[in-house]
Amino acid sequence: RIVFLNGSFLPPEEAKVPIMDRGFLFADGVYEGVGVLDGRLIDNEAHLERLERSLREIRIDNPYSRNEWTRLEQELVRRNGMTEGFVYLQVTRGVAERDFFFPQEGKPTVMMFTQTKSIANAPAAKNGISVITVPDQRWERRDIKSIALLAQVLAKQAAKEAGAQEAWMVENGYVTEGGSSSGFIVTKAGSIVVRPLSHAILPGITRQSLLRLSKEDGVTLEERLFTVEEAYGAAEAFLTSASNFVVPIVSIDGRPIGDGKPGPITRRLQELYLQMAREPAIA
Ligand code: PMP
Repeated sequence: RIVFLNGSFLPPEEAKVPIMDRGFLFADGVYEGVGVLDGRLIDNEAHLERLERSLREIRIDNPYSRNEWTRLEQELVRRNGMTEGFVYLQVTRGVAERDFFFPQEGKPTVMMFTQTKSIANAPAAKNGISVITVPDQRWERRDIKSIALLAQVLAKQAAKEAGAQEAWMVENGYVTEGGSSSGFIVTKAGSIVVRPLSHAILPGITRQSLLRLSKEDGVTLEERLFTVEEAYGAAEAFLTSASNFVVPIVSIDGRPIGDGKPGPITRRLQELYLQMAREPAIA
């Protein structure tokens, strides 16, 4: 296995970061996760665009151009012989004596690794998963893909301990999103409901692609808030993320959704997404 750290491709045991790294001390950094299928990066341009935005919002200079990022990501995928999985990349404000103020000088710490995993034929994609709901305890800028993920760690661990695979976070009665995914429901009339973008959620790249694909397919879209109660009574539910694509949700808080099996609209969207991932439009 080979990882990337500050310009070098290294074995993981040689990739070391000093304890004074601000990522370690303050979670002062941002990250991205890009899906890989058939050895190709999926929606990479959109991920790099979101990375640029996250970096700008926390005022770290982007260390690479989009082309440079892409070449490094592809190189890492190639060196690891990965065909399916994801690329994780992270930029922190770098190493400096511990002090809240930005360091006067110093450069960002840039790190990337790959994780090989089956996505398209994963059991979760086939059989669906269970989710629980938990209070959303995060900060108010969830649109920034910050490496500070303590609330998500606790939410997802609570899900695991309840026998579920994802936590849907809830604020003022409304679902915000999953611990590491965007959340959708399908109404009995067959329209897709998804929370509109704002500072309250991460602008999911898979969400964005899925919305485009469903529009092209003629599915009715409702970008609006939805409550936990509405989700309990939905015909179908599913989540999206770069590392899992489209995953059916078959129960929420122990209540079966629809007939407790992945629904037809979710199946159709899974199919459309996979098709797009396998045959990316020539940009
Ligand atoms: N919301 C949160 C909080 C996430 O961590 C993720 C996964 N990165 C998503 C949504 C899904 O975003 P994407 O489709 O870009 O992976």
